[in-house]
Amino acid sequence: MTYQDFAALAYLFSAVLFILSLKGLSSPATARRGNMYGIVGMALAIAVTLANPAVKNYWVIIAGVAIGGAVGVIVALRIAMTAMPQLVAMLHSLVGLAAVFVAKSAFYAPQNYGIVNAAGKIYTGNLVEMFLGDAIGAITFSGSLIAFGKLQGLIGSAPVRFKGQHALNALLGAAIVGMGAYFIVQHGAATFWIVTAISLMLGVTLIIPIGGADMPVIVSMLNSYSGWAAAGIGFTLNNNLLIITGALVGSSGAILSYIMCKAMNRSFWNVLFGGFGTGDSAAPSAAAQAQQRGANVGSVDDAAFLMTQAKDVIFVPGYGMAVSQAQHAVREMAELLHKQGVRVRYAIHPVAGRMPGHMNVLLADANVPYDQVFEMDTINNDFSNCDVAFVIGANDVTNPAAKNPQSPIYGMPILEVERSRSVIFCKRSLGSGYAGVDNELFYKSNTMMLLGDAKNTAESLVRAFKGGH
Ligand code: NDP
Repeated sequence: MTYQDFAALAYLFSAVLFILSLKGLSSPATARRGNMYGIVGMALAIAVTLANPAVKNYWVIIAGVAIGGAVGVIVALRIAMTAMPQLVAMLHSLVGLAAVFVAKSAFYAPQNYGIVNAAGKIYTGNLVEMFLGDAIGAITFSGSLIAFGKLQGLIGSAPVRFKGQHALNALLGAAIVGMGAYFIVQHGAATFWIVTAISLMLGVTLIIPIGGADMPVIVSMLNSYSGWAAAGIGFTLNNNLLIITGALVGSSGAILSYIMCKAMNRSFWNVLFGGFGTGDSAAPSAAAQAQQRGANVGSVDDAAFLMTQAKDVIFVPGYGMAVSQAQHAVREMAELLHKQGVRVRYAIHPVAGRMPGHMNVLLADANVPYDQVFEMDTINNDFSNCDVAFVIGANDVTNPAAKNPQSPIYGMPILEVERSRSVIFCKRSLGSGYAGVDNELFYKSNTMMLLGDAKNTAESLVRAFKGGH
């Protein structure tokens, strides 16, 4: 068996493992196994690639793996759960940059890639691949950096709008296609660099008008772009596994973007062109005004009384639970209630927190039984029969303003907590959430505000349930 045959078989096996990995990651119950498949598939792919007799110098590879791996380990150990979306955006930017570098190196040293004809000219098909990898990679790179900056708070997360923005984007897109076609015909290095420059600009102008609340869709869309860029590199490198993996990432990212758009009841084009969201910092005047409107503020004992009297309690976690790392205390609360005969469930909104699946990950981390965790579509009708909806650190995902056509979050499906007999909101203030939109539920007669840090409050409730408050 030649190395090529062996590599083809091993790559096929890796590809199957990647597909099983995606399948596993689609449910919290099988996510760990899915992750394992992915790790084994990737380890096999790297080992087989390193065994290629064409590899002449291992030191450069070892140095790259050591430096990149060390940075990766340090970042992964230090990163806060809440900063995961920006980490993902940053990693996508690197995939985009890698695609640009590979396209450039293939252009400047085509003989090393075996993509030249007898006359020493690069094949047209390879020029097309180079162009696509370069353009998509550059858009992914600069777009992901802007998404990172917005999510990290380095640049304002409010949409940046100006007159003629869509026309400018259309013009830049047309310029990329035009210059790309010219590059393929003319093979010019300068033209190729112009394509890169315009693509970098388009990445910036595409992402700056998108508001904070739409960032999850954008991070997932950039994930998809990075996959297609990787598939483009796969063609240039003549590597089937990279083509398959890139296509898997590209299509799963696109499907996730679609699912999230559906969860927000918005079209993809509306997300791209109709951005909303002002970021975490709620206008202080809005909160101050809200205080004056008089919400019903309760104590831990009031909340404990309501919940122990209930037959059915639904927990609604959100970003605040993640920030304060309250999930373990919440699980303990739920367990104590369960022991007292209360039916407990958790309702998960698809964009609760700051990354897709954020709440599922936290609840799994706290060993919450999977059969108590329900997605929005499954549980939404049950709020009307539930005694207490305990909203912990969530805000936008419950905000009925989404039903008002005048509201910037109009159309986003919400968890219908207001239908419950009582709603307890555990958060620190009456301030707004990520989208910066005031939540009228705080002032409803069946709502009780339980003001304070989510973890402290949940721990106090645990003590109250145990009778030691
Ligand atoms: P929100 O951002 O709407 O609300 C979170 C609330 O948590 C805030 O109102 C805040 O209120 C409260 N909070 C913050 N810290 C604490 C704390 N220590 N203890 C208690 N409460 C705290 O979160 P949701 O989960 O409801 O909605 C997610 C939002 O984020 C949506 O708008 C979504 O579109 C957006 N988004 C989602 C992403 C994803 O992939 N899931 C990615 C990026 C954005 P207070 O200050 O009063 O305590």
